[in-house]
Amino acid sequence: MALQNKYNSRTISGYYPSDTKIFALGGLGEVGKNTYCIECNDEIIIIDAGVMFPDDSLLGVDYVIPDYTYLIRNQEKIRGLFITHGHEDHIGGIPFLLKVCSITDIYASKFAAALIQKKLEEHRMSNRTVIHIINKESRFTSKYFHIGFFDITHSIPDSYGLAVQTPNGWIMSTGDYKFDLTPIGSNADYQRISYMGEFGIDLLLSDSTNSEVPGFSISEKNVAKSIDEIMEKTRGRIIIATFSSNVHRIQQIISAAIACGRKICVIGRSMENVVQIGRDLGHIKARDDDFIEPTTLDSYRANKLCVLCTGSQGEPMAALSRIANGSHRYVTIIPGDTVVFSSNPIPGNATSVNDVVNNLTRLGAIVHTNSIMTNLHTTGHANQDEQKLMLQLVKPKFFMPMHGEYKMLRMHADTATQVGISPENIFICANGDILIMRNHEVFLCDSNRIQTDDIYIDGNDSSGIATAVLKDRQVLADNGLVAVIVTINSQNNTILCRPNIVSRGFIFIKEGQELLRDGELIVYKALRQRMMQKTTFGELKNCIRETLEPYLYSKTHRNPIVIPVILNHIDGQALNKNRQ
Ligand SMILES: [Zn+2]
Ligand SMILES: [Zn+2]
Repeated sequence: MALQNKYNSRTISGYYPSDTKIFALGGLGEVGKNTYCIECNDEIIIIDAGVMFPDDSLLGVDYVIPDYTYLIRNQEKIRGLFITHGHEDHIGGIPFLLKVCSITDIYASKFAAALIQKKLEEHRMSNRTVIHIINKESRFTSKYFHIGFFDITHSIPDSYGLAVQTPNGWIMSTGDYKFDLTPIGSNADYQRISYMGEFGIDLLLSDSTNSEVPGFSISEKNVAKSIDEIMEKTRGRIIIATFSSNVHRIQQIISAAIACGRKICVIGRSMENVVQIGRDLGHIKARDDDFIEPTTLDSYRANKLCVLCTGSQGEPMAALSRIANGSHRYVTIIPGDTVVFSSNPIPGNATSVNDVVNNLTRLGAIVHTNSIMTNLHTTGHANQDEQKLMLQLVKPKFFMPMHGEYKMLRMHADTATQVGISPENIFICANGDILIMRNHEVFLCDSNRIQTDDIYIDGNDSSGIATAVLKDRQVLADNGLVAVIVTINSQNNTILCRPNIVSRGFIFIKEGQELLRDGELIVYKALRQRMMQKTTFGELKNCIRETLEPYLYSKTHRNPIVIPVILNHIDGQALNKNRQ
């Protein structure tokens, strides 16, 4: 137990402009919105700009992005945004960042660049920045930084790690990676990684997503074998769902389908995009006539078809969920169909995936999900033994686990101590913590932090929505809504008829009739009292809330949102005043 207190023990107060500062705006203590920054004097480089997908508590929120305030205030220092690979938790924040902050140059691999380009076109902002295509031979040089890249294996082609030379020492960031000795895409560049380790890396930032999983992850080739087998053995139609972000898997599914003479029907927008870009860049090898439109599904024999779709996580709007509940426009389950989940449910999605599996089974489909027996899925992230291998190849002096919730970062730190990194040299940081690198030594700054909050994106509004709005949505969901409609005449300060209370989602109306009736009377009395003196609409609305809220709470122990609506009736004309 004494060990855990030794992490983060090297601290320092304050820093000089000439120190190298390393901090994250997103990605530490969470899975998503990866945004890491390295700063020295008047230069900043950014590594990745991701989004996070909200959990159920954030009602109606589409994305969560980091607070970009620090970058906005220091935009003249930004020398470039470097993208490790094309997943949403690394590129999804780019349109929102570019809206508020000028970044003239983005450096990304071919595949990531194509995805970013598409994203920027969708947001009509492709002229905001120049995207430079990088490969492992590329070099970037500015006044204080030299950056090189190395190949890494992950679930999407063209994934890179970065080595950054700064005036105070070398930093290496793995990006998302796994070690797969028989990968589907490109190999990790073991030689270059160990060469850089030999050369001397002062600080390593490494992917912690799977740090709780022991051993070595299963090779993508084993998954390919299982998919080939299913394609061959199955007599009827195959409907197969996977993550649209897993390009290697999509590649395999398409190749396996073509090999057994099945036509492929791609369903779901994100899947269509990835298949298109994958084909354009030569990662997915298929001819146009290997694909068919969903409208022509019925004209092919069942054993000549493979439907590739989104929805492996049971997302309610995705193709597979709609197929399962019978509401998909083109695909209806025919008894004897085989449905394959080439995925694992992300924690939290297990129930919705289970519902989809049940519905499909009820309709007569044979459903295969992933298990140790079936090998229908493997991860794109390093398990513990692969993390150890990375640490052994690089042999960094200092280590900061990145990309993961606190428990994952912590476990990765423990793993690092097992391979001989001294706990004093390990930093478990939160977003906004600043690591200071000075003359090849690294410290945690205990006097300053960078402002980092979650910004919620509703639709495409980049301003972010207030926590207050979310709170309202939560109250609405938990307690419902009560509207109080009052008609007054503001000229002679009279209430024209008794207030009317309407409620939604608050109380079962039949039983609540009496309660609401009493409420109306209480509000009426309070308003009459208030209107004896000169008053304003604002005061009347407050008066309604102040009388009704405690009354409803005392009777029901609920706090619904109370919305006062005051109609002003002057000279026979109703004016809807101050409606909220
Ligand atoms: Zn990734
Ligand atoms: Zn990631």
